[in-house]
Amino acid sequence: MTDTPTTQERYASATQSSSLRVEAGLQGDADYLIAAGWSKSRFGAALMRLHSEWDAAARRGCQIPRQATRKQIAQLARDIATAKQSKQVEKEHSDAARKRLEDGFVAELKETMRMLKMLPEVRLHLQLTAALDECPETESVSCAVLLHWLKPVCGACSGRKFQLSPRAGELSSVACRSCGGSGHGKVPGGEHGRKLLTYMEDCVGRARQGIRYRLNGRA
Ligand SMILES: [Zn+2]
Repeated sequence: MTDTPTTQERYASATQSSSLRVEAGLQGDADYLIAAGWSKSRFGAALMRLHSEWDAAARRGCQIPRQATRKQIAQLARDIATAKQSKQVEKEHSDAARKRLEDGFVAELKETMRMLKMLPEVRLHLQLTAALDECPETESVSCAVLLHWLKPVCGACSGRKFQLSPRAGELSSVACRSCGGSGHGKVPGGEHGRKLLTYMEDCVGRARQGIRYRLNGRA
């Protein structure tokens, strides 16, 4: 006997997540089995469809939900402390700020999932892939990587490359500290996140190759 979980056990633990079921709006085990069985080109084609859905939603003003930064949590914690007439920021104020911003993120994510029909299934397949890679936080990492893939811009400057000026809505001449002025967002999830992104790009490449092959076959 070994303590190392088998592939089957890792699949089982990934698919038993009740929060994923609720968030993804999936109905039953069949959804899991279908998503788990997707080939690379099938997953790549699903990603391409998801990106088309996102492009259409973005034109209607849909925004990618962003998890709160430490700075935003600290700012809200200060506001809560002030509202409660506390002289200093206590742990309960920071906890309340973190929870309020996290709840806001989850609500925005649900709204995004409602608009992007492919997102729940795509997210599930990616989560299972992350589980096989023994990623410790499969739900949050796979979700963050997907959102990054849809819009890979820096969350701090929204891809505008410069820090915001103290005057509302204007940019300063100082490069964004978060992205060093590139405008590109950092791939979330560390090594696991980078591996998932490489996997996604490989799958999209295969799907495109398949499409080209079929088109040439018809010609
Ligand atoms: Zn930036």
